[in-house]
Amino acid sequence: MSEAPKLQPAGPAALDAFARIVGEEHAIRDEAGMAPYLTEWRDRYQGKAALVLKPASTDEVAKILQLANEKRVAIVPQGGNTGLVGAQIPDESGSQIVLSMQRMTHVRDVDLASNTMTVDAGLTLATAQQVAESAGRLFPLSLASEGSCQIGGVLATNAGGVAVLTYGNARDLALGLEVVLADGRVWHGLKRLRKDNTGYDLRDLFIGSEGTLGIITGIVGIAGAGLTAFYMFRLFFRAFYGTDPEGGYHPEPHPTRWIMAFPVLTLAALAFSAGWIQIWNSSVASSSRLYSECSMPRPADITWTSPASVRPSLPR
Ligand SMILES: Cc1cc2nc3c(=O)[nH]c(=O)nc-3n(C[C@H](O)[C@H](O)[C@H](O)COP(=O)(O)OP(=O)(O)OC[C@H]3O[C@@H](n4cnc5c(N)ncnc54)[C@H](O)[C@@H]3O)c2cc1C
Repeated sequence: MSEAPKLQPAGPAALDAFARIVGEEHAIRDEAGMAPYLTEWRDRYQGKAALVLKPASTDEVAKILQLANEKRVAIVPQGGNTGLVGAQIPDESGSQIVLSMQRMTHVRDVDLASNTMTVDAGLTLATAQQVAESAGRLFPLSLASEGSCQIGGVLATNAGGVAVLTYGNARDLALGLEVVLADGRVWHGLKRLRKDNTGYDLRDLFIGSEGTLGIITGIVGIAGAGLTAFYMFRLFFRAFYGTDPEGGYHPEPHPTRWIMAFPVLTLAALAFSAGWIQIWNSSVASSSRLYSECSMPRPADITWTSPASVRPSLPR
């Protein structure tokens, strides 16, 4: 098998060609402009880059990756730059190009019949939640970084968050993906099917791959009809405290809000109990059932086929 040509820095002509794909105003070359993309909020990881590109469409991402593949230039995808392990930051060589997804923020479709929403990967998680909520639905993934992290980033990292026990990781909330592969081809996997047993599950391969297999550009997320504890408590807080223009909560509730809050609080309490029953059923009870139903062999019952010399000494 022949070895793939090594990655190399892009020359000035190649950098110009990259910039032309997104337009000069969306290609950052100066140090000050690039600085926010080259470190993360704790300043624990810093890097250098030849260029920061901000494409606005799947087509532009595809053209960038096609050219990068031709020129053998390394691309570092970056979402909201909230990742805690530095994978969204380029290395110190100064030869890599950061591809920021922050301009890809279109809501492509909200389908109430299938309880799904199809959005660009650069939408922040908080905006995706709001899109679902304004359609009377719930997108339950929630992390402290939700105002900045992007829906593409949470899938690239398979993030968990505060509702993970009830709703699962990001993987459990995505039905389909659109991904641009390293050579610029686009994998169109924006399916809304819940039961899809056709062949290999490429979607699951891309989720959690942190940009190593391709760049996620579009997502079909599950926006469920969620009369759940989580949703009810959010409603309660909104009804009780109201929201300010920035989306934060007013510290002082108006006295009349108690009247509105009472029925919502009652429903929330009911839903909260239902939520715990759901958690119990889905995790605690099922795992204890699993332990009791599987007849796990005791170490003494295992027949070892390895040579006696490497056999671990097990308590008998
Ligand atoms: C305050 C705080 C709380 C957090 N809480 C949690 C938590 O509860 N659970 C949890 O799991 N994480 C948590 N995180 C970590 C972080 O928010 C998540 O990992 C988040 O999913 C990263 O999303 P992002 O858009 O910021 O991605 P980035 O940080 O920009 O990138 C992360 C990785 O994904 C890749 N990537 C980004 N976008 C794409 C794309 N479109 N296509 C392909 N690859 C891409 C990057 O190359 C990088 O490898 C928290 C972080 C902070 C700061």
